[in-house]
Amino acid sequence: MDAGLFGGTFNPIHNGHIRIASHVKQQCNLSRIFFFPSATPPHKPGSNLAPAQDRYAMVEQSLAGMDGFSASDIELSRSGPSFTIDTILAFEKQHGPDTRFFLLMGSDAFFDTPSWKKHKAIFAAVPIIVMPRGEPGQRRAIASFLDENISKGYTWNREKKQFIHGRLQPVYVCHVPKIDISSTMIRNRVKQHLSIKGLVPSPVEKIINKRKLYL
Ligand code: ATP
Repeated sequence: MDAGLFGGTFNPIHNGHIRIASHVKQQCNLSRIFFFPSATPPHKPGSNLAPAQDRYAMVEQSLAGMDGFSASDIELSRSGPSFTIDTILAFEKQHGPDTRFFLLMGSDAFFDTPSWKKHKAIFAAVPIIVMPRGEPGQRRAIASFLDENISKGYTWNREKKQFIHGRLQPVYVCHVPKIDISSTMIRNRVKQHLSIKGLVPSPVEKIINKRKLYL
């Protein structure tokens, strides 16, 4: 089966995450998408981070009963900072050779990969699906990025909507609808006692209230 790996801080998970994941699942024919919250994100220090167990509970309860979506605590069960390449290898070990994984990334995360540990190993390990948010012209930016930061020799295959490379895994570009929701917006609204109804799945609202998060 083909499965997507969707990592994030999910501080908290919101309807934007779920809608873009549904879009990519359908466009790329993925059977399942695993959402995995990061325990101690190496890239986002000091952003009013809710405890990992609360962030995981919000992801798990939001996805419960949704066909083809699963929550994974794979990064939470590991101690210390979580690095994406280790997570990919752990998923591969957990699921065996019958599952082919694709790493989903928003374009902000994608362009930030040079600051990640062993980031070039990621491009060798799994196909990546970059999800630009309704921005035109991103394909050219992705092409220059790959050429300058990852490796020379990527070429664009228009039919398959992917960059291919002789040695490395393909990089797909899957444009997703622009949805103006971010976790930062949710945290700010909670802090200002504004409603977050319709912006997050209802279990998220309940957990935020019960655990008094983001105040
Ligand atoms: P924050 O506001 O705290 O930076 P976020 O809303 O971007 O958080 P993350 O948990 O960092 O949420 O997101 C995980 C991934 O989802 C990232 O790759 C990010 O680009 C993508 N993403 C988040 N919100 C959207 C959205 N509205 N549309 C498209 N991609 C999104």
